[in-house]
Amino acid sequence: MSGTLFNIQRFCTDDGPGIRTTVFFKGCNLRCAWCHNPESQSSDVQLMFFADKCIGCGKCSKKCPNALESCQLCGNCALYCPEDAREICGREYSADEVMDEILKDRAYYEASGGGVTFSGGECILQIDFLCELLKLCKENGIHTAVDTAGYVEYSRFERILPYTDLFLYDLKCADADLHKKYVGVDNTLIIENLGRLFDAKKEIWIRIPVIPTVNDTEQEMLALRQIISSRGRPSRIELLPYHAMGEHKYAALGREKMSFPVPADEKMQILKNIFS
Ligand code: SF4
Ligand code: SF4
Repeated sequence: MSGTLFNIQRFCTDDGPGIRTTVFFKGCNLRCAWCHNPESQSSDVQLMFFADKCIGCGKCSKKCPNALESCQLCGNCALYCPEDAREICGREYSADEVMDEILKDRAYYEASGGGVTFSGGECILQIDFLCELLKLCKENGIHTAVDTAGYVEYSRFERILPYTDLFLYDLKCADADLHKKYVGVDNTLIIENLGRLFDAKKEIWIRIPVIPTVNDTEQEMLALRQIISSRGRPSRIELLPYHAMGEHKYAALGREKMSFPVPADEKMQILKNIFS
């Protein structure tokens, strides 16, 4: 079995306990206006062009079978570009290939209490591939985490429950109108699925991005706290401050992005206190 990924990152420390390998699936059914991984959103393989790195040498054009017109994603331009200004984002991986990468760091997982985190994009959209990888990890005694935004049919969660040790569950906005405006979909299913995962007695870490001008109000955070506490008890709640580090990737994909300010440390502390 195979699936489309855009990155496998080793030695991660922000995606669950201990030292982890994070596997990034391509494709997402949400469109968060602040997304810092826009290359994760399309399920297709894409060509990215970082104009600020280009020195105009022309090698890409000479090596391209179509002289840079109507790209067929052959990857030649990226291969021959001396400045890494062109990049093919995403490719098909077999489950064995992914497992080979994951198993390289088994000793680090064991020493640190870490494991593997499947992320994206929305990794649950490629449910068959995800299920197979989770099973293989459990057969190898590796701790598994699934990072999800929760906007999928619950039957998909049911398939991965037996092989998932931890869910990293993203909540964005409590207010339904805000959610629809900035994420692109209604939040009802996401909230319902969170309740079902609590009922299934799974370990959950909640992750909330703090986006100034969108959800950085005490009112929104109190409402999110109410949503969480009325459904169960996560082992951790993380507030993640907005950062602009992914902005250059929008330009590389030929897209525009909404701008948001970065939240001040004092504001983050006030909002964190709501959950303490
Ligand atoms: S990926 Fe291939 S077809 Fe597309 S622009 Fe580059 S060289 Fe041309
Ligand atoms: S090969 Fe790279 S540096 Fe040279 S023109 Fe093409 S994109 Fe620019």
